[in-house]
Amino acid sequence: MDAEIIAVGSELLTPARLDTNSLFLTEQLNGLGVEVAGKMVVGDDVGRLAEAVRAAVSRSGIVILTGGLGPTEDDVTREAAARALGRELVYQEDLAARIEQRFRRMDRKMAGINLRQAYLVQGGEPLPNPNGTAPGQWITQGGAVIMLLPGPPPELEPMFRDHCLPRLERLVPKQFIRTRCYRIAGMGESDVDQLVAPVYTKYRNPVTTILAAPGDVQIHLRARCASEQEAERLLAEIGPEIERLLGDRIYSRDGKPLEAVVGDRLRAVQATISVAESCTGGLLAEKITSVAGSSDYFVGGFLVYTNRLKTALAGVPPDLLARHGAVSEPVAEALALGVKARTESTYALAITGVAGPGGGTETKPAGTVVIGLAGPQGSAAHSFRFLGNRARVRALAVQYALDLLRRALA
Ligand code: ATP
Repeated sequence: MDAEIIAVGSELLTPARLDTNSLFLTEQLNGLGVEVAGKMVVGDDVGRLAEAVRAAVSRSGIVILTGGLGPTEDDVTREAAARALGRELVYQEDLAARIEQRFRRMDRKMAGINLRQAYLVQGGEPLPNPNGTAPGQWITQGGAVIMLLPGPPPELEPMFRDHCLPRLERLVPKQFIRTRCYRIAGMGESDVDQLVAPVYTKYRNPVTTILAAPGDVQIHLRARCASEQEAERLLAEIGPEIERLLGDRIYSRDGKPLEAVVGDRLRAVQATISVAESCTGGLLAEKITSVAGSSDYFVGGFLVYTNRLKTALAGVPPDLLARHGAVSEPVAEALALGVKARTESTYALAITGVAGPGGGTETKPAGTVVIGLAGPQGSAAHSFRFLGNRARVRALAVQYALDLLRRALA
């Protein structure tokens, strides 16, 4: 059974407010094994909303509306739901009495318009709202269930947990969702997709999603089955095929980011790392130290933009700089060796390059990055030509540097 969520409120169509209710609801529904097939934000327009509800009910077994249950003219959810389902709105004396009582308890005088909240879509069941005045509504039509829930999260969340979840548990055939996440370094999104598409397109379950950030591609597998074992079995069928195709380009099978994977490995072999950065201006050190506990293995490093500092801090010979230029393999390797020696770390990474958009030459255009790595087995430097703007080139440089270290530690 699939679900659709409709967030109601013109304020959600402005840059000022975000629909977070649907995120909460999606998480809760997924916990029941229910997939959210679609979600939508609709302004306070009764006609448009009724249309949206009608379409959603024709497609999906579960339709949840949030917001628009207040007492004012622009709160149109009750009326739109009634119109979409071809039912009347019915005034409920007992609901009205409860709303009045709530105002009395708070020592406040109730405005007449609050009684609009005492109308129920004919045949609907009220859902108590101890945290606000607007009751929710649970309505069934054909094989579908429609829920009208209040907009404020402190009202919606307990109402959903206490009154909707138990009803849904009885209604929905038990489903289990199991996921797996592979993270891949050193490949672009389209290359990853081209390689693994022949495998994942064979399966409708698990569903495969590919997400990409600079230098970091994630493959998410999501299996939905009647039993946990069946979901695990499906993942175990497709997972190894994907692993075989991507080999050691997969750096994480549990969603951990590259800097944490490298950190775990450094800690495991009791090694340390230092950095010398030019065009990334400290981003590599920032990434490494974003992991809690990184002081176990990160010793520090140098920020060396000028040639003078490359020599003074990292000991790069001036004639090497004069002969090859700062963005060169001999200089990147010398930087790595220099920072390793001076910080007495086990490994060292050095990044030098042209982040752009200016500063490039014909032989070293913007996007040229050279990464040096020094370790117990020796040292080396690798040249890259990254495409994209300054932020992307710098992010790629950091990611590729960490991946070189990961491979050295393998
Ligand atoms: P009320 O009785 O408080 O008017 P309501 O059910 O009519 O409740 P709305 O008036 O639509 O709800 O929204 C009230 C407030 O709830 C909004 O100003 C916003 O802060 C929050 N809200 C509404 N919808 C959402 C949403 N989808 N995600 C997060 N917050 C929301």
